[in-house]
Amino acid sequence: MVDLKTQYAAIKQEVDNGIMEVLNNAAFINGKQVGDFAEHLGQYLGVKHVIPCANGTDALQIALMGLGLQPGDEVITPSFTYIATCEVLALLGLTPVFVDVYPDSFTINPNEIEKAITSKTKAIVPVHLYGQSADMDAVMEIAKKHNLFVIEDNAQAIGGSYTGADGIKKANGTMGDIGCTSFFPSKNLGCYGDGGAMYTNNDELANKLRMVANHGQRVRYYHDMVGVNSRLDTIQAVILNAKLKHLDQYCSNRRSVADAYDKAFANHPKIKTPARASYSYHVYHQYTLVIEGDRNGLQTFLADNNIPSMIYYPVPAHRQKAFEGKGKIVGDLYHTDWLTDRVISLPIHTEMEADQQAFIIEKVLEFMNK
Ligand SMILES: *Cc1c(COP(=O)(O)O)cnc(C)c1O
Repeated sequence: MVDLKTQYAAIKQEVDNGIMEVLNNAAFINGKQVGDFAEHLGQYLGVKHVIPCANGTDALQIALMGLGLQPGDEVITPSFTYIATCEVLALLGLTPVFVDVYPDSFTINPNEIEKAITSKTKAIVPVHLYGQSADMDAVMEIAKKHNLFVIEDNAQAIGGSYTGADGIKKANGTMGDIGCTSFFPSKNLGCYGDGGAMYTNNDELANKLRMVANHGQRVRYYHDMVGVNSRLDTIQAVILNAKLKHLDQYCSNRRSVADAYDKAFANHPKIKTPARASYSYHVYHQYTLVIEGDRNGLQTFLADNNIPSMIYYPVPAHRQKAFEGKGKIVGDLYHTDWLTDRVISLPIHTEMEADQQAFIIEKVLEFMNK
């Protein structure tokens, strides 16, 4: 699905030298490179504060804690997402309120958000799934109208952007109160282990997030609240500093791969290519088709031809055993279930060779044309 070895080869010198420097200085925690990276990422995104942390799941949890959400508060989120988005809600005793997504772009449907609002609703967590921004003008309008917080789950869409009706382009994760990112190795900006970050333009909130991530202390050994321990390692910051410079190129490489897939599968009666919403600069963390036909048969056929493929995700959050009796479901989540039975993600990465992709396309069409 990804080729991290070839990607590493291209930046090996810088990464190796940077890691050696950390080993020699032994500043493994909170080294200078962590602050440098936060600053560089802030400049890249056009956001005032970047608060690094240990992983993307922590970023979501710390964001919810930083906003002061309390047990019983309701948080609206899509069920069609990676479990981490909903898991942190349950962990904090918040009530996940699952709503449906758009069937063509896979992101949260704002009309469904409106229906889900009650007097207990405190926040919305839109997910920029597969690398594409959610419909953020609509999400932000609802949030403003009902005085709700917005936490963007941007784990899959860093490098992507949203252009609002006002024509202003904003980096994904910088429109709501807090954006959350993961630097898991296979993400669009990945390190060589775990890593994550939150971003915000709100000074007070930034201080709060820093405090939560650091055992609830502002002054060492004086704990004003119950927090967590969540840090980005210096070694990971070195890798991220090296890779951030290439992020735009990585994203455009992914888009070229998506272009070629789109072209090959266009107008096929049983294959629907992923929609590109007019407002979004899609960075294709995943390239996900909707198959009208034998989706599981296609996956087996591809595997028999040594082509990896993935179902993201085989069970939506509201149908997971862990969420039985937890959370609320609004509407029938028809498109969530419909997509779950039909989606398949093909290999896409920054180092894809034309002949590799041609082989994948050939095999997909061979099966689908049977
Ligand atoms: C990867 C991911 C996360 C969690 O990130 P980790 O760094 O693995 O904790 C959260 N949400 C979504 C949508 C993701 O894809």
